[in-house]
Amino acid sequence: MHPSRRDFLKIGTIGGLAASVLGFDLAPAYAQLRTLKIARATETRSTCPYCSVSCGVLIYSIGDKAKNVTPQVIHVEGDPDHPINRGTLCPKGASLEQDILNERRITKPQVRRPGSDHWEDIGWDDAMNEIAQRVKKTRDATFIEKDAAGHSVNRLESIAWTGGCTDTNEFNYLVVKAMRSLGVVHLENQARV
Ligand code: SF4
Repeated sequence: MHPSRRDFLKIGTIGGLAASVLGFDLAPAYAQLRTLKIARATETRSTCPYCSVSCGVLIYSIGDKAKNVTPQVIHVEGDPDHPINRGTLCPKGASLEQDILNERRITKPQVRRPGSDHWEDIGWDDAMNEIAQRVKKTRDATFIEKDAAGHSVNRLESIAWTGGCTDTNEFNYLVVKAMRSLGVVHLENQARV
């Protein structure tokens, strides 16, 4: 049997009427279905990382936070209390769970050496040390104290900073302080949080 759209609507309407006439209230059942998935989950507020709109998201994970337990993300949805999106997400943001639970997601620093054709893993301490050494070497070699007319400018044009939409006001405040102290003039950020 291949029910038409009209048949489907008839069946649905009759089913709804029968439930009403016989006194069944399906609302608690639907509510139960809704709550079961996240009933024992931990709710974490976060920000969609994809674009500068910076929609708020709720990330639900399970795990009792014991040392030998790895938390598992089970659901992501829009945050209804967030002033930017009020619970809504665009299709890209709605697929955020697939970004988190993705075997291709990079979770540690990597470096591609000059002349190399591939990226290699590097420890966090080594990555920080290498970045610090390169920043110092670049700044020492290219810092501009005076412009062509002899005016003091004390600026660094060879290093730039770019930030993401999940960077907070507090984080960006520190970024600007740190970058300006080095003389960096090229700063950009798409954050709205
Ligand atoms: S949900 Fe969509 S609009 Fe909102 S921040 Fe993510 S990508 Fe941008």
